[in-house]
Amino acid sequence: MFKAFLIKYAEIGLKGKNRFLFENALRDRIQEALNPFGVFKVSKEQGRIFVECPDGYDYEETVDALKKVFGISSICPVVVLDSSKWEDLTSGVGDYIEAMYPDRHITFKVEAKRADKSYPRTSPEICADMGAYLLGRFPEMKVDVHEPEVRFTIEVRTRSYVYSINIPGLGGMPVGTNGKAMLLLSGGIDSPVAGYMIAKRGVSLVATYFHAPPYTSKRAKQKVVELAGKISKYAGKIKLYVVNFTDIQLYIYDQCPHEELTIIMRRYMMRIAEQLAEKEGCLGLITGESIGQVASQTMQSLAATNEVCNMPVYRPLVAFDKQDIVKVAEKIDTFETSIQPFEDCCTIFVAKHPVIKPNLKTINRSERKLEEKIDEMVETALNTAEEIIVGK
Ligand code: ATP
Ligand code: MG
Repeated sequence: MFKAFLIKYAEIGLKGKNRFLFENALRDRIQEALNPFGVFKVSKEQGRIFVECPDGYDYEETVDALKKVFGISSICPVVVLDSSKWEDLTSGVGDYIEAMYPDRHITFKVEAKRADKSYPRTSPEICADMGAYLLGRFPEMKVDVHEPEVRFTIEVRTRSYVYSINIPGLGGMPVGTNGKAMLLLSGGIDSPVAGYMIAKRGVSLVATYFHAPPYTSKRAKQKVVELAGKISKYAGKIKLYVVNFTDIQLYIYDQCPHEELTIIMRRYMMRIAEQLAEKEGCLGLITGESIGQVASQTMQSLAATNEVCNMPVYRPLVAFDKQDIVKVAEKIDTFETSIQPFEDCCTIFVAKHPVIKPNLKTINRSERKLEEKIDEMVETALNTAEEIIVGK
């Protein structure tokens, strides 16, 4: 029945050049999201995006794909009437209601938009006359202009659109409108959610995963690739760097106090990720850290990891409780993958009693013990990083 969709987006703050960039990006992201499902024609149309569907397309599949595109506020399946002549309009809207609402004991309101100002009826006249026509054809329907159960919207253009369904979109901004950032992606629950949230602000993602073979398995790496794939359903293509961290970890383990291992390791992860981020033209780093969640995420620990970065570090989960993070993880379908039991490189080297209030001076002093070899090791880790492209 529906051969097209009208896509609405929030226009707040969209002016001039920004609006143009936003609309173009949204059109492109929608086109990319639908390409795997057939030849959809996506075009910009006066404050909307219009999607024309190929014959035989799958409605559910298409709506699901649109529900994953950031920047959409609502998705309206529309019936397209090729003629806007008044008789064709009334019969078209009537037939739409007949098909869509078999039980017509509903209250309704007609809303009209007239793009074509030469149309012989004004918008209020279209509403009034259409309302009268519908009451005549369907006596069981009642008008309620304040709180109608169903709003029939008619947009009169060369062709006319009729719709009454508004499927909520994800909101946010189209990916590609707000620069690029480097996600530190582990196999855990938090970092995929953090990446999703920043991507929702229109930011493209690059990711880095640190593994420590043979202490961490191929399967653990595969899990991270899988998680990147799930995020890419929303965030688009992601380049994932897989950095071999084994030698650095062993070296820290040999040289530094064990209770400081996690903090020092985290600092090296940040340093390496930042270098890759610079190379990729990123404007920030993203982590899944949340205040107080574990010893390495106390305010003091976060200050210690933050100290080594020059780029801003975005921590969208900083004030989230675990259960709220889990809710998002479930919604974006990363949770089941995240909880698969594969060792991550931090768990293997964790001390029994890690420092919870690391002192920056002490940490810096301990790191001096790494001076002899660490620069070279970081260099090697950067040069041997594997690059995997995930997603479309
Ligand atoms: P997550 O669920 O995201 O793994 P976590 O609660 O296990 O987080 P930590 O292990 O302290 O917390 O890690 C904090 C953040 O550091 C992670 O959210 C992630 O951004 C980054 N991180 C940790 N381990 C790795 C890793 N092996 N590779 C890349 N980033 C990592
Ligand atoms: Mg983790």
